[in-house]
Amino acid sequence: MKLATLARVAVAIRPPKLLVHLPSMHRPISILSRQITMDAKTVASRLTSSGLLRTQGLIGGKWSDAYDGKTIEVFNPATGEVIANVPCMGHKETSDAISSAHDAFNSWSKTTAAERSKYLRRWYDLIISHKEELGQLITLEQGKPLKEAMGEVSYGASFIEFFAEEAKRVYGDIIQSTLADRRLFVLKQPVGVVGAITPWNFPLAMITRKVGPALACGCTVVIKPSELTPLTALAAAELALQAGIPLGVVNVVMGNASDIGDALLASPQVRKITFTGSTAVGKKLMAGAAGTVKKVSLELGGNAPCIVFDDADLDVAVKGALAAKFRNSGQTCVCANRIIVQEGIYEKFANAFSKAVQTLQVGHGFSDGVAQGPLINEAAVQKVESFIKDAISKGAKVVLGGKRHSLGMTFYEPTVISDVKSEMLISREEVFGPVAPLLRFKTEEEAIRIANDTTSGLAAYLFTNSIQRSWRVSEALEYGLVGINEGIISTEVAPFGGVKQSGLGREGSKYGMDEYLEFFKRIDSDDD
Ligand code: NAP
Repeated sequence: MKLATLARVAVAIRPPKLLVHLPSMHRPISILSRQITMDAKTVASRLTSSGLLRTQGLIGGKWSDAYDGKTIEVFNPATGEVIANVPCMGHKETSDAISSAHDAFNSWSKTTAAERSKYLRRWYDLIISHKEELGQLITLEQGKPLKEAMGEVSYGASFIEFFAEEAKRVYGDIIQSTLADRRLFVLKQPVGVVGAITPWNFPLAMITRKVGPALACGCTVVIKPSELTPLTALAAAELALQAGIPLGVVNVVMGNASDIGDALLASPQVRKITFTGSTAVGKKLMAGAAGTVKKVSLELGGNAPCIVFDDADLDVAVKGALAAKFRNSGQTCVCANRIIVQEGIYEKFANAFSKAVQTLQVGHGFSDGVAQGPLINEAAVQKVESFIKDAISKGAKVVLGGKRHSLGMTFYEPTVISDVKSEMLISREEVFGPVAPLLRFKTEEEAIRIANDTTSGLAAYLFTNSIQRSWRVSEALEYGLVGINEGIISTEVAPFGGVKQSGLGREGSKYGMDEYLEFFKRIDSDDD
């Protein structure tokens, strides 16, 4: 069996819904930092006075400004307003954060698994008890609808809970010795200080998916969130402090990405880099890690195929493809990037799918009923526009949408385009926006060939009512994750990660622990 098929998540039944019931807003008005704008204040007035709106980095347990006083603005993508100013940190602050993490490692790595488990459990409980405020922060700085943001909080917290439990299950091994008077043992020990670099599309979950297992194993971390969404990361760090996690175990720096990245890469004290983001930056980090021979985990970009066979249940396929494509306005690494439909069901699927897409309400993430928020910034909209222009120039047709939304800013109409071909830009690279390209195929072999015709290998989806086909095709797909008759495939209990240029290593599940452990061999002799 190929490696690509070993770590599959073949989900034939629907997992728990990612979208959750939204409790009423009943929290008291908080006192906000002076950097917060009036508009953001209106929204943020729903936050508690629990001090979650942090606007400084965290180094050795102390909230810190940039040493030269420089700041960067954090924007609300739905309105363009500045929400807050956060420090623009660089090499010096990162070096201090690494030193703090290194000092803290000495004691944290010696705590018992049971102690670390309790700290993580407290952190999890605090995240859940502040679910509403964290969801609001995510919507505020990232734009996704509040319901979806609250779903991210549950999903993000699930990694802390899972790894709180998994901390207690790090076992070694005893190996039969080749010599009678020797005993061989394998001990698993924490890697050391971890540099965790995360993107803006899941401001909480991409952090907890790394920091949960790192802390569970006894590692300490320096987190670098995206400059676009640092507030959620800082709120999570504040809750880690409130959970009593010792000072210096969790550090957060943000600002000049390449300066911070270079400092993490150059330091011999940092023993592991874990990164989620674009393939281009991932490659740079992988090359940079060679200088000090660090462990590297990379969760990179995707180009997910979503294959709909003639024998699929139409309703299931439409619902699944809709979820796989339009979650987070198409801004996820596992978003269906190419919807590949067999000719016998193509017209029926295209009609039903377009009707479903038409119902998606676009708007500010805080408005009721909204399913599609803004894109993260103007560059993201321009990328979508250029991909559509390229597709149309090569013969694709716009079925629905295909332009900026009348709301202005970075809102884009949910879009369906047909007659898409493999040579178009939109088939070759991730569009990272609310655009569903439809491609047509005749045979199963052709579908597999089209699906695998990419350098990416993160997620794939297939819709069929044939059990034999689902096994056959899922094993032929060169993807780390395959959803069968299901559009939502992420869960903390199964390994998440890509093959080919979509990355290295796995996050979540028991396999996610090994990424933060070294395996040491010990030899014990009978001799005195
Ligand atoms: P990105 O531009 O690669 O940024 C990701 C992170 O890397 C950000 O924190 C960014 O900082 C930082 N960064 C940029 N240049 C750096 C450098 N030279 N050294 C160190 N750090 C650097 O990606 P993005 O646009 O934020 O995220 C979207 C991408 O992430 C998509 O390709 C998506 O598919 C991928 N993604 C993958 C997964 C997965 O699990 N496989 C999950 C989510 C997203 P600043 O933002 O501050 O510049």
